[in-house]
Amino acid sequence: MADKFDVVVIGAGPAGYVAAIRCAQLGLKTACVDKWLNDDNKPSLGGTCLNVGCIPSKVLLESSELYELANNGIAEHGVDIKSAKLNLPAMMQRKQKVVSELTQGIAGLFKSNGVSSYEGHGMLMAQNNVEVTAHDGKKQALEATHIILASGSHSMEIPSAPLDGEHIVDSTAALSFDSVPKKLGVIGGGVIGLELGSVWRRLGAEVVLLEAQDSFLTMADEQIAKEGLKLFTKQGLDIRLGARVVSCEVKKGQVDVEYQHKDETCHEKVDKLIVAVGRRPNTDELASPDTELILDEWGVVHVDEQCCTNLPNVYAIGDIVRGPMLAHKGSEEGIMVAEKIAGHHAEVNYDLIPSVIYTTPEIAWTGKTEQTLKTEGIDYNTGIFPFAASGRARALGDTSGMVKVLADAKTDRVLGVHMIGPHCSELVAQAVIAMEFGTSSEDLAVTMFAHPTLSEAVHEAALDVRGNAIHIARKRK
Ligand code: FAD
Ligand code: AMP
Repeated sequence: MADKFDVVVIGAGPAGYVAAIRCAQLGLKTACVDKWLNDDNKPSLGGTCLNVGCIPSKVLLESSELYELANNGIAEHGVDIKSAKLNLPAMMQRKQKVVSELTQGIAGLFKSNGVSSYEGHGMLMAQNNVEVTAHDGKKQALEATHIILASGSHSMEIPSAPLDGEHIVDSTAALSFDSVPKKLGVIGGGVIGLELGSVWRRLGAEVVLLEAQDSFLTMADEQIAKEGLKLFTKQGLDIRLGARVVSCEVKKGQVDVEYQHKDETCHEKVDKLIVAVGRRPNTDELASPDTELILDEWGVVHVDEQCCTNLPNVYAIGDIVRGPMLAHKGSEEGIMVAEKIAGHHAEVNYDLIPSVIYTTPEIAWTGKTEQTLKTEGIDYNTGIFPFAASGRARALGDTSGMVKVLADAKTDRVLGVHMIGPHCSELVAQAVIAMEFGTSSEDLAVTMFAHPTLSEAVHEAALDVRGNAIHIARKRK
């Protein structure tokens, strides 16, 4: 007999679990099906994000930054540490502890909100039925008025670098190396490649990052990306642009990576190679063929602005639909769909999704880049404030980078805010909030910011749109 629900969600990542909790909060009888098993073969809610994505990568970024600071940088503050020693097993144990606490937290939230949790693979069947195949092979039918698909994504593989789980690995394995590779190769200069490359460089690896495109971080503002490339290179990340990997061979415990650079064929020998070339939606076995769910050639589920699929009462959210593969984007879609099912109106503002790269310095932005404004023929004014002129950044001992505000030349409405520097992952929220309320650069300029804070850089960049920044030396005519 089928269990009956108002809503069944397939996938308990940040898109699915948030959707399930919000549905339950809105009084809908809700179930969530998830198949993730941790290393102990135990169900672990939270999807990629909590288990092998956002959270463990940020834990290692924090820990490795502390290690690097202890060895190099803390002396400048008058704190002498003879020589910091790396205890990698302890670092990994801490990472796992944070992951377990958070994944168990989701299980707790399901319980307190009354979301029924089903373990196993969920498949959308005809007439709004979901078939759950548990890990022991047992099948259970669920019947739902509404179904939300949120099955997430997996690392993409490329034939030129087949994963062997030991020498050539994906991001998941790269979060759990049991020793620091002497020489580490990374294919892909995107967010994941840069973050993982940074972790292992800080812990002592020599890191070579091979990126097929000729330009660096094409989705970011060009000026910020250029500054990032300069700073990462200075730290010792060997970033090679225009380097397309064409084949890999494992020989005597090392990977011989062959790549094409302009017209030259080059080779690099590394001890480990991380393949970080993007992610693909988990949609191969998500819907039975007779449902006729429409996917594109990459397996992306076709949806409208409100995340409705081509099937009545079936929605899709998160990494399996268009847009950036980001946890917060999936969560917001989850809330929008839950509200819609409950009969309320809700929207996601796709123009103001914050993007963050958690390197040192951090890179963050929202809204349009300068190159997009140029392409779209929009006249704009620019305000820039360097962290070198911020008292708080000086106190931190971290003065690299800047905040940049782009405002419409006619209306002064802020169209984009881009930043590279300390704690930009937090600062970008100010830009998102202000822009959600349709701020002008003048609104930001007349707002009071506490002193001394890094936030003052946002204030000064807004003042600079009219050339009125206080802490930038400028000759007046
Ligand atoms: P997922 O998190 O992938 O969850 C999907 C869940 O569905 C999984 O538990 C899966 O097992 C389950 N599932 C799949 N198919 C089925 C099925 N048929 N039946 C039952 N269950 C199923 N994003 C950020 O915003 N910030 C970051 O800092 C960040 N860092 C990242 C670092 C790394 C190393 C990686 C790999 C990713 C990172 N991301 C980050 C991306 C982020 O993890 C994803 O965008 C996010 O997890 C997508 O959420 P989701 O709910 O759509 O899917
Ligand atoms: P992202 O999609 O942000 O995770 O970034 C993945 C990056 O990997 C992109 O910038 C691609 O250009 C890059 N990439 C994909 N295939 C290759 C390859 N064979 N060699 C080098 N870089 C690659």
